Formats: sequence, C-alpha cells, structure tokens
Amino acid sequence: MDTSKEYAKSLDQQDPLSHFRDEFYIQDGTLYMDGNSLGLLSKRAETSVFRILDSWKQLGIDGWTGGEHPWYYLSEQLGEQSADLVGGKKEEVIVTGSTTVNLHQLVATFYKPEDGRTKILADELNFPSDIYALKSQLELKGYDPDEHLVQVKSRDGREIKEDDVIEAMTDDIALIVLPTVLYRSGQLLDIKRLTEEAHKRGILIGFDGCHSVGVVPHHFHEWGVDFAYWCHYKYVNSGPGGVGGLFVHERHLNETPGLSGWFGSDKDKQFDMDHTFQPAQTAGAYQIGTPHLLSVAPLIGSLELFNEAGIEAIRRKSLKSTQYMMDLLQRELQGYGFRIGNPLEDDRRGGHVCLEHKEAARICKALKDKGVIPDFRSPNVIRLAPIAFYTSYVEVWETMQVLKDIMEQKLYEQYENKRGVIA
Ligand SMILES: *Cc1c(COP(=O)(O)O)cnc(C)c1O
Repeated sequence: MDTSKEYAKSLDQQDPLSHFRDEFYIQDGTLYMDGNSLGLLSKRAETSVFRILDSWKQLGIDGWTGGEHPWYYLSEQLGEQSADLVGGKKEEVIVTGSTTVNLHQLVATFYKPEDGRTKILADELNFPSDIYALKSQLELKGYDPDEHLVQVKSRDGREIKEDDVIEAMTDDIALIVLPTVLYRSGQLLDIKRLTEEAHKRGILIGFDGCHSVGVVPHHFHEWGVDFAYWCHYKYVNSGPGGVGGLFVHERHLNETPGLSGWFGSDKDKQFDMDHTFQPAQTAGAYQIGTPHLLSVAPLIGSLELFNEAGIEAIRRKSLKSTQYMMDLLQRELQGYGFRIGNPLEDDRRGGHVCLEHKEAARICKALKDKGVIPDFRSPNVIRLAPIAFYTSYVEVWETMQVLKDIMEQKLYEQYENKRGVIA
C-alpha cells in the first residue's frame, strides 16, 4: 500500500464526486470526521432555508398553498424525493417527526400483542433512545418490559449476529425492531435476511436507519421490511434537529396509525374539520401535527445533492475512503494499541470507522485540539467518518498523520481520560 500524500492526492483527482466538496461549508483548519453525528451545512440547504423564510416573509398564511414550495405538500414531496435513499415507493415514505417520535408512532401502530405473542425483540447494542421508547410502549400496553422486551445479546460487545437474532425469533415475539447499522461498531445488519426470517415466523419487523440513510443504499420495499424510521441530520446533512423520515410498506398503508393527528389526514379532507379521522392512504398518514417547516427546509437543498450524486456512487466513495483510512491505520499506527471495531467486509459495514482504544476519550480531546473533529462513544470508541460529499482522501491522510503524531508523542497524556457533555 502507498502511504504517501501524493497517492491521496491522486485518489482525489480520480474521485467522480470531488466537485461536491465546494457545495459545503468547510471550516479552514479543521478535518471534520463527525458527519455521521451531524452532517455539515451545504450552500443549497442554506438557500432552501432562506427560501422558506422568504415565503413566510412575503406570503404569510398563503405560504401554505402558494410560493415555490407550498408548505402544505412539502413533507409528501420530500418523502417522494427521499424514497430512493431507502428504496421505497414514493407513497411509502414521508418526511416527518424525529427518530424517537417516529419509533413511538410505528410501535404504537404495529405492536399488537395477542394471546401468547406479546414480546418485542430488540438487541442489546441499540441506541438508548430506541430502547427507552420500546420499554415505554410495552408499559403503555400493560406489559413489564423486564419480561416482554427481549434484547439479543452480543457475543463480543461489538456485533449482533444475525443467527442469534433468528434464534430469538420465537413464537411469543410480536414485533422486532433493530438498527440497520449499529451506531457504535458500524456493523451493517443483513436486513433482507432478517426480514425474510421474521416473516416466515409471522413476526413484523422494523428498522432504525439513522446510521445508514444517506450512506448505504436500501431496498426496503423489495425486501418487504414492514416499517423503518430515521433522522436526516446525520448523513443527510439537514441540520441540528432536522425533521426525520419514515417508511411504511404499501401492504400496511390501509391501517390507521396508532397516534392519530390532523396532519395524517387525507389531504383533501383535512380542512373539512370533521371529528372522524380519515387517514391518508400513504405514509403521510403517520404525520401527527403541523410540520416543523423551518427544520424541514434544509432537506430541500440537501436532497437535490443526493439526487444529483446518486446513493450508489456515494456508497462506493464511502467504502473506498473508509477502507483507505483502515489501510493507513494498519500501516501507520501499528503498535499503539488500536483495534478496528467495525466489521472489515464491505457488505457488513456502514459509513464510519470504529477505532477502539483504552485511552479513547483523551485521544479524542487531543485530536480536537489539533483540528480533527472525531466523535467519542463511551467507554473506548473513537468514530471517524469520512463523508463522500465533502471529505477528501487528502483529509483522511492528514487525519491519520495527526493521530500518528498524537500517539508517537503521547500528546493525549496531557488530558483527562473522561468524556465531555456531548461526546
Ligand atoms: C441518532 C440516533 C437517534 C436519535 O434520536 P432522535 O429522536 O433523532 O434524537 C436514535 N436512534 C439511533 C439509532 C440513532 O443513531
């Protein structure tokens, strides 16, 4: 392997996505490796926020149905435009809510305990918010989460084996909720296989796509996934607190959502103001109240970029730059106590590199002081995510040089090995 900076430059020269970098605001002197937690602002997203503000400024209430992006239809329109990111039909995807709220909505709809089939199957490595939501949904239905939430164990603290999940699909399970990509190790689960196995046993299955939407292609419709939900502020670059998305397979589009609200109405009937809820026959039915338009707005510009680049090309570059990072790690950072915690195979990993080290917290602090923005996950993980749209191969190379310096000179010893408030 060629570890020279010239080689990194040559990779940038061959990169078909390199021109997208100019679409983003990148701060001088920083190497941003945290786009998997909060994607950077694009100029297009910024412009689309100004446009929505302008329609409010100019049109007042008439912005709902007038102007360039009538607010009343925007969530549906953006749902259609993001359908390619998840492999859904246009009527199966809606932009709404947030990850946790959408999970509550979907579990309130699809968790239907009946005699003997009362349990929810999840895993022990999922993000805490998902687990809190599942436990509270069980409690709302009168079940004790200690007994009715089954969490598949990890054999090594990093990965969840599909075989272990399948073995746990017993006939007392009503619903399965799993991540597509695990937030810490970056393992990409075999969504197709798990869906098939769940359905063979008459169990519904849904996925949290937070760490895969915008970086990994999906085929939720074709795979028959019952539902999915995700945020857009990570790989989709829609800004802090940006509105999320959800997918409901067309076979369920005639159901009434568990949590009803007027924005889930058939759009032609919503303003009849009738007290009988008539849900839309699309994923739009899963909306609850008025969309948070100022937090939807960045998606207009951001999705344009995704539609221009194509998710397959994004995945190719993401895999290539994470592989390049891992190759440099193995060549340049041998003997410093790092272990790569993500699966190494392309079809089993998401968009970030998971680096384990017992001094991870203070190595992250040292990285930050040197201008590298990593992300720490307790107790020992450094996540680094080169982003296809805006991270160059030279930046990956430079990040590894900074890390090497920190390790060679033991610069991390100047810091306490404790995490900050956020990461
Ligand atoms: C980022 C993330 C969340 C965050 O939930 P919000 O409701 O958007 O705050 C939840 N679950 C997973 C798996 C995540 O990666």
